[in-house]
Amino acid sequence: MLWFRRDLRLRDNPALNAAAAGGAGVLPLFVLDPALWGPAGPVRRAYLLRSLHALADTIGVPLHLRVGDPVREVREVAAELGATEVHCAADFGPYGSRRDGSVERALAADGRALLRTGSPYAVSPGRVRKSDGTPYRVYAPFFRAWAEQGWRAPAPAPREEVGWLQASGRDGDRWPDEPDLAGLCLPEVGEPAAQERWEAFTRDGLAGYGDERNRPDHAGTSGLSAALRWGEIHPRTLLAELAAPGRDRGGQERFRKELAWREFYADVLHHSPTSARTYLREELAGMQFDHGPLADERFAAWSTGRTGYPFVDAGMRQLLAEGWVHNRLRMVVASFLVKDLHLEWTQGARWFMRWLRDGDLASNQHGWQWVAGTGTDAAPYHRVFNPVLQGRTFDPDGDYVRRYVPELREVPGIAVHEPWLLPGGPPPGYLARVVDHHAERAVALQRYARATAKEPRET
Ligand code: FAD
Repeated sequence: MLWFRRDLRLRDNPALNAAAAGGAGVLPLFVLDPALWGPAGPVRRAYLLRSLHALADTIGVPLHLRVGDPVREVREVAAELGATEVHCAADFGPYGSRRDGSVERALAADGRALLRTGSPYAVSPGRVRKSDGTPYRVYAPFFRAWAEQGWRAPAPAPREEVGWLQASGRDGDRWPDEPDLAGLCLPEVGEPAAQERWEAFTRDGLAGYGDERNRPDHAGTSGLSAALRWGEIHPRTLLAELAAPGRDRGGQERFRKELAWREFYADVLHHSPTSARTYLREELAGMQFDHGPLADERFAAWSTGRTGYPFVDAGMRQLLAEGWVHNRLRMVVASFLVKDLHLEWTQGARWFMRWLRDGDLASNQHGWQWVAGTGTDAAPYHRVFNPVLQGRTFDPDGDYVRRYVPELREVPGIAVHEPWLLPGGPPPGYLARVVDHHAERAVALQRYARATAKEPRET
């Protein structure tokens, strides 16, 4: 049997090949684990359900669904089927690796084995190390070592046609209803949609990716983060196809570097599992943050896109409208929360995890820690993103802001980034700024200076 988790595809799936190799047929199982389903939030729940249905369509037999603790459910299904082996891809997350250890022990008690083949990464976390055997904490040298380490070719399709089985014991559990997304729109989900998106990107986007990836007003990135997060497509497939003859070399290298960020953060989390919740740079755990009614009001303004800074507001409203935000905006809004509103990164990271369809513990928590300056790169606490300059640089015509902030739709061109400078002030309905960026930047740097001895610099 094959226990699917975050590898919801058939192509380039080594665990499927391993399960099919026995020739005795493969039962496709998914366990809806309340420990993950509970905190997932409506967007990831809806995404998962749609992706599971898409997977079942591709397989052609029903996916056996169980709801409950995987230790009990996997053990029971394996016993009902009389399976000696349960196949899956390795999970390197803090919860997933603990869970798999428990499932492995429970199966072993019945004389069965949990066999892990492959992982959601091109190079499994833990494999890239410095020459002294310690893990990397800085991206650039990790990238060089990761590229040098290399990765396997994509797994071929299983040699024989897979004999998919249906459960022989009790019926699967009832599928939960899809949560109400309150108007939030998800794109097409599932392996075929991911393949199509990738093909469209290599055809139309890759050559311009180096320049366009920073432009939220253009569709210049792959839009594959959710597909990668759920394993509808594997990074190894992408890396192999990037290297195909005729691909734009600049775009190819840049894209590889972005995929490597995902692998880097998974590696960091693997070595420091507590960094999902605590500061990687422990000396900054004592930084002063704001609490109380005013802090709560500011968080509410940030999370609903009502800070009075148009670029920030557009980013936060894109999150609520699409369950996805452009990377430039993720950095800008994260910086704003931590350095302009003086709220703790963990609060913003939780909000992102609630609404992102690509919400991934390693990339999200470490993306936040990187912006907050508490994570893998020693410099960025000094890097206080200026929300107006960022908007003027990366959304130079103001189209991105106008797309998500209807109150500003009539404001032409670049002026949209500073509505307070308009002759009549901001248009009706658009709020005044919650804080003054320059004043708050100084406060943030003072607090940082108190925690360390570094000098400020503006980006
Ligand atoms: P592309 O530009 O097409 O990049 C290709 C792929 O490379 C992405 O799909 C992603 O898998 C990977 N990638 C690119 N940039 C990064 C990066 N900085 N860190 C890690 N992987 C990267 N990404 C997530 O997948 N899940 C998250 O929960 C998440 N949270 C983030 C939170 C913050 C505060 C920040 C600053 C970044 C976060 N990112 C996260 C990284 C990045 O913003 C998204 O991966 C990217 O915007 C997805 O869009 P795309 O697929 O079009 O990217």
